Amino acid sequence: MSVSLYNTMSRSLEEFKPISKEEVGMYTCGPTVYNYAHIGNLRTFLFEDILKRTLQHDGYLVKHVMNITDVGHLSGDGDEGEDKIGKMAHKVGKTVWEVAQFYTDAFFKDYDALHIIRPEVVCKATDHIADMIALIQRLEVGGHTYVSGGNVYFSIDSIPDYGKLARLDLSSLRTAVREDVSSDSNKKNSKDFVLWFTNSKFGDQAMMWDSPWGRGFPGWHIECSAMSMRYLGEEFDIHCGGIDAIPVHHTNEIAQSEAATGKKWVNYWLHGEFLLDDTGKMSKSKGEFLTLDLLRKKGYDPMDYRYFCLGGHYRSQLKFSFESLNTAKTARSNIFERCISLKREGAQKVVLESETAKAHAATFDEHIDNDLNTPRALADLWGVLKDDALLPDEKYSLLLYFDEIFGFDLENLAVPKDLVVSDPEALTLLEKRTQAKEEKNWPLADSLRLQLDALGFLVKDTAAGPTLEKKM
Ligand code: AMP
Ligand code: ZN
Repeated sequence: MSVSLYNTMSRSLEEFKPISKEEVGMYTCGPTVYNYAHIGNLRTFLFEDILKRTLQHDGYLVKHVMNITDVGHLSGDGDEGEDKIGKMAHKVGKTVWEVAQFYTDAFFKDYDALHIIRPEVVCKATDHIADMIALIQRLEVGGHTYVSGGNVYFSIDSIPDYGKLARLDLSSLRTAVREDVSSDSNKKNSKDFVLWFTNSKFGDQAMMWDSPWGRGFPGWHIECSAMSMRYLGEEFDIHCGGIDAIPVHHTNEIAQSEAATGKKWVNYWLHGEFLLDDTGKMSKSKGEFLTLDLLRKKGYDPMDYRYFCLGGHYRSQLKFSFESLNTAKTARSNIFERCISLKREGAQKVVLESETAKAHAATFDEHIDNDLNTPRALADLWGVLKDDALLPDEKYSLLLYFDEIFGFDLENLAVPKDLVVSDPEALTLLEKRTQAKEEKNWPLADSLRLQLDALGFLVKDTAAGPTLEKKM
């Protein structure tokens, strides 16, 4: 199977070809742990989970690395403002370490509740300061840095292709719109960025380390270059994040990584679009935002939100409303009920043999391998549930096959104990009845139904196929 992915670098769909057949290297920018993740952030992590699951479904072994930003992310992307975690620590009267740990734990609680597969490597920025210093030294040796006002800066004029991911027009940048221009007068070029801060402006910043340039802390971008290279090497396959990372964070990551190694760094760049609320992009800095916990308190299952996100393509903006979440909830509950019915009547996971079942699987693969088309893939799931030509075992097996991507964990869906029908005689009769119906032998089908009734079982014909219930 081959998978096509939209590469932000080329602005086109490309067939995915890994560097090594053994293992795919995938780096995803992790959370900045100064507050709870909002459901917009979680949308990005869900898209990355679908990507990883698709690669695994297609037989690849994936090494997924995700960082935890616990230092260096200032409130302004252009190196202005306060450290986000330091600011929160001040506000709540805790140490930066306590704040970072608290929100890291909260983040993984959401991550697990949403059935996002944990990365193979989770790395904290504060555990990798030495790697960052070594990378900055390498850039210094290559002539890509300068020290000004106490900080170490990356000089974007030291490389020929700064801004290639975002397709920045550098000629217009120097006279660009105000918010594009950093207010830091130490910069030679407004797009230069900080690799290491020692600037006294951040003197009360609690997280500080010694470095060849003085005591201070790293800039935000250097952490992702240093940690991805440590765990995935100097060239790897996939790097992801939300689209807001394109113009600054990922642009700067590429600049410094490729300047240090002299090689192309990442082959495929994938970006998830925003979740919007009534006011536009859902954002932590707006103060009020929706969390998964809040949805839970309102009676939603985390799987309702997972279903809601799968209903939109990751490269399209998705507008959140409780009305749409309710629709997702109804659909999701319906799927779970159908799956429970199948289990209840003893459906088993089997190898797909019939042409009809194989065709369903192929269509699904085609959709998911086409740049992760989850809306089409969800429609395929409904197509399976509605297809009367499929046997219950086939339906159940297709659901599990699709669920490798959807991640609802249907296989472990609990069936209420009193409803499990394991009576072999009843199951045999049900199977014979299904076959009789397929052969349009209605008198036989009716007589088998009566035999089941006499045994104490009720047969119900549903859109997902016949179900068996023990009569009360
Ligand atoms: P942060 O914790 O702020 O560093 O953000 C974590 C991830 O969420 C990043 O990849 C962001 O690009 C992404 N993100 C931020 N806001 C949104 C949003 N409204 N919708 C989708 N993703 C978002
Ligand atoms: Zn990053």
